[in-house]
Amino acid sequence: MNYKISKIKARQVLDSRGNPTVEVDVFTRTWRGRAKVPSGASTGVHEALELRDGGDAFGGKGVSKAVRNINRKIAPKLKGRDVRRQKSIDKLLIELDASSNKSNLGANAILGVSLACSKAGAHASHKRYYKYLARKCKNKRLVLPVPFMNVINGGEHADNDLCIQEFMIVPLMKTYGRSLQAAVETFHILKSIIHKKYGKGATNVGDEGGFAPNLNKVRDALDLLVEAIKEAGYEDKIKIAMDAAASYFYKEGKYLYDKKKITKNRLIKEYEKLMKRYPIISIEDPFQEEDFEAFAELLKVAKKQKVMIVGDDLTVSNVNRISIAVKNKSCNCLLLKVNQVGTLTEAIDAARLAKKNRWKVMVSHRSGETSDDFIADFAVGLGCGMIKAGAPDRGERTSKYNELIRIEEKLGKRAVYGKSILRLK
Ligand code: PEP
Ligand code: MG
Repeated sequence: MNYKISKIKARQVLDSRGNPTVEVDVFTRTWRGRAKVPSGASTGVHEALELRDGGDAFGGKGVSKAVRNINRKIAPKLKGRDVRRQKSIDKLLIELDASSNKSNLGANAILGVSLACSKAGAHASHKRYYKYLARKCKNKRLVLPVPFMNVINGGEHADNDLCIQEFMIVPLMKTYGRSLQAAVETFHILKSIIHKKYGKGATNVGDEGGFAPNLNKVRDALDLLVEAIKEAGYEDKIKIAMDAAASYFYKEGKYLYDKKKITKNRLIKEYEKLMKRYPIISIEDPFQEEDFEAFAELLKVAKKQKVMIVGDDLTVSNVNRISIAVKNKSCNCLLLKVNQVGTLTEAIDAARLAKKNRWKVMVSHRSGETSDDFIADFAVGLGCGMIKAGAPDRGERTSKYNELIRIEEKLGKRAVYGKSILRLK
């Protein structure tokens, strides 16, 4: 009785960019699960479809159609179902939508319901959410993930000339808590270095909370990170990661890199030089989202440097795209974003396929986020050892890091930090 869905109520709320998004409440007789749906800016063309209203209201970005789909079409079908039966709930959602990319009901509608059900299921089962998710993932090893913190924003996430979208610091101290502290100290030192070098306004932040100084050279951003890490005293303890999001600087068969049009072969060479010069441990989406071969070329080089090549727009958390990337040997790490695929079950399937092929998995936020801290529990439950959740500022980013603090506290001596999962130089 307590596990039966008694009511589902969706509404339109706002995300961190001030755009409408979907919030869903799923009720059982005594419990409620609430989920809010994130939204990308540098989205992959193969992602599941985020349903927007169009028209004039909210600049066309309203989600009232998706909300209506939940309240009128999904809710009546799910009422009375056992909220813990995630797989069958997600299967029903997929069947109700009946499209290949969730374009009928909207992936934002479907995901909101899928995640809210999982939260209600955890409450109704009196289980901590990360533990409940671990069972859904069939994972026994709870791991506090290493944070990949995007501290310099470029590309689609900032109003500057940096072609590369994200420059991240990756703290590798012994524990999550100590790593968080090291990253935060480095973040503040980075702020003062940027202020000294580039003056007022340069420390304003981009969509993911990282600074967005008007740099136009990739190496300038990397040099800033190296300087901040050194000044903070964490040389060797904090590494660097990048998300190129290269589809967004790919124009007419060339890459507009540091304001110069270059071929993919030149870009491969440039990445190779960067890997040798800087303490880089991963590069995400180094090429445009259809070029499985270029990814594979770079992976050969990267493996020698023990650098991970991460698929995001390339693989879109979708088992079909991951299978192509596996066949082509394009990546060795999956960026996992639940809203790219639309249900919790499909996201777990994507992670399992990646793991089965000995890839690593990094759970990720979106540039448009909310205070929903689902990804923190998901990363721990999945035991993947890595999370990408932006800079350690802005409430929608810190909500994830803070949830991880609480989980670490709860696990106490049993807390394992994901550092051991990363293969390092
Ligand atoms: C990303 O590209 O990895 C990312 C988080 O950005 P967005 O949400 O805009 O796709
Ligand atoms: Mg990306």
